[in-house]
Amino acid sequence: MIFAVARSERTMDSMRRRLCALAEQMEFDTFYDYGNMRQGSIIRVRDCASVFRNILKKRSEDLGKFSVARVIRDIALDRPRPDLSPAFFADLYYMILGLQGRGPGKAPADEELEPSALTGRRAAKERSRQLDTLWKNIEKRLSTYHHGLEPEVIAYRRKRSRKILKVLGASEKDWENWHWQLQNVIRDAESLTALLAISGAEKEAVVEASRRKVPFGITPFYLSLMHDEPTAHDRAIRAQVIPSLDYVMETAADRETGDCLMDFMRERDTSPVDLITRRYPAIVIFKPYNTCPQICVYCQRNWEIEGVLEPTAMARPEQIERALSWIRRHPAIHEVLLTGGDPLIMSDNRIRNLLSRIADIPTIERIRIGTRVLATLPMRITDGLCRILGSFRKPGKREVVVVTHVQHPYEITNRTVEAVENLRSRGIPVCNQLVYTFWISRRFEAAALRRILRLTGITPYYTFNTKGKDETRDYRVPIARLLQEQKEEARMMPGMARTDEAVYNVPGMGKNYLRALQHRNMLSLLPDGSRVYEYHPWEKNISGTGPLETYISNDVPILEYLERLEGIGEDVSAYQTIWYYY
Ligand code: SF4
Repeated sequence: MIFAVARSERTMDSMRRRLCALAEQMEFDTFYDYGNMRQGSIIRVRDCASVFRNILKKRSEDLGKFSVARVIRDIALDRPRPDLSPAFFADLYYMILGLQGRGPGKAPADEELEPSALTGRRAAKERSRQLDTLWKNIEKRLSTYHHGLEPEVIAYRRKRSRKILKVLGASEKDWENWHWQLQNVIRDAESLTALLAISGAEKEAVVEASRRKVPFGITPFYLSLMHDEPTAHDRAIRAQVIPSLDYVMETAADRETGDCLMDFMRERDTSPVDLITRRYPAIVIFKPYNTCPQICVYCQRNWEIEGVLEPTAMARPEQIERALSWIRRHPAIHEVLLTGGDPLIMSDNRIRNLLSRIADIPTIERIRIGTRVLATLPMRITDGLCRILGSFRKPGKREVVVVTHVQHPYEITNRTVEAVENLRSRGIPVCNQLVYTFWISRRFEAAALRRILRLTGITPYYTFNTKGKDETRDYRVPIARLLQEQKEEARMMPGMARTDEAVYNVPGMGKNYLRALQHRNMLSLLPDGSRVYEYHPWEKNISGTGPLETYISNDVPILEYLERLEGIGEDVSAYQTIWYYY
């Protein structure tokens, strides 16, 4: 029908109008004569019709810089379009199928929750039976993801830490000393190969990273989480810190040219004074220390971090003074997010001094500390540090919160549990920000993480969609997958184990809430199968109806993502409803 209309119209303009009217008619008919259709299919028609109409609009074409309408016309008239990939055809195919109320739609846990004709206690029992089966299937998926609190994992890691200590000629006491850990950060391929079996490709990337001054480093503690024998268990852990050669070359090239694209979040444009970033009315980011004990490959600040534990990473005293006095002069600011880099790598004294200066500012009611040491260096959370952090709490007046960044259940260790306990015993809540990378994106993998986080005492806070930075493409996941995860997996867990919000951090604008469809439009579908989205700023409907800047970004082709999953052994038929998340 769609192609028949496209063939019969004389101009592009009239074809667009007719196709829009057709989609509207199909939606109307579905909702009018709905008796024979399942509710899920009816809703799918609504979603597909809305996206289909949107991508035909002239404005969408202009912003997306591509015409899907032209493709439909060319296909209808048998004109060759060699530019179009299988990923493009797959996405369009599923959209057209959905418009007709068809397409895949099986529940991920292989159990249909069927409404029954029963009532009262008998209905409840039947429902309960179905839910038991559903949970059994969920539990099966969850249990495929191991975490570091399992006795075998603890025992294996003990062996690993002993081996590392032997090679480094150090003692168990040294291992517990965070200064020793920092002094022994692994910074090159030679030290790495002495402590861990790595592949040729990994070695080549690390050699190039050192040669081209791309930040690279791993704490001995984090290295002990990796396996010496080839295994899929530590895949996510390795991917956190061992870069690919592509990443190294691209990052090195960008750093040489001082390419602003690396500053994806446009921090340069949102920094009113050195060390401060402000995107929201009441919160600022304060970055006094610009490095970490190890560098996450996809780090959003890889444009400004010079290297692991660089001696020059500490801001100059006059810069810190200027930043503090700027905050003091802006009474709208009620919360300071102390981040970097990792501010907990600073000495206790420095931390105490800085916190006391921030706490002295009368408007500050919350100090948030962004750190990854709970995963990379948990021995840093000493009793002394917890006492210092806790001393800046004033119940009813000011709170101190630690926001950490645990990426995978396998990163949780019994040391993490102890560190969190220590912080919480001083009244400091601990929250987690997850970056939804390829390595945590399998079915129920993020749900398994949230579950163990909760049991560790960490509250899931945000799940960030990966940013569109070119050099981090190996980590990116289509937005559709994160939406699917939220709906089909996170939703299955108890509310306390899914307290996080899925967001896309829009450059210069801040967080765009992905669960709210009114915050974005799908504009187009590019020849390589990438969807193009337009994100609306958070201040929409707050700052009037005048012109507002929106942000356009291309996503990861869904088919490409599914093929990668297949490559690591996933059964992609379990992901089939992904096409219907827009
Ligand atoms: S811990 Fe944070 S700031 Fe440090 S490298 Fe990782 S993502 Fe970047």
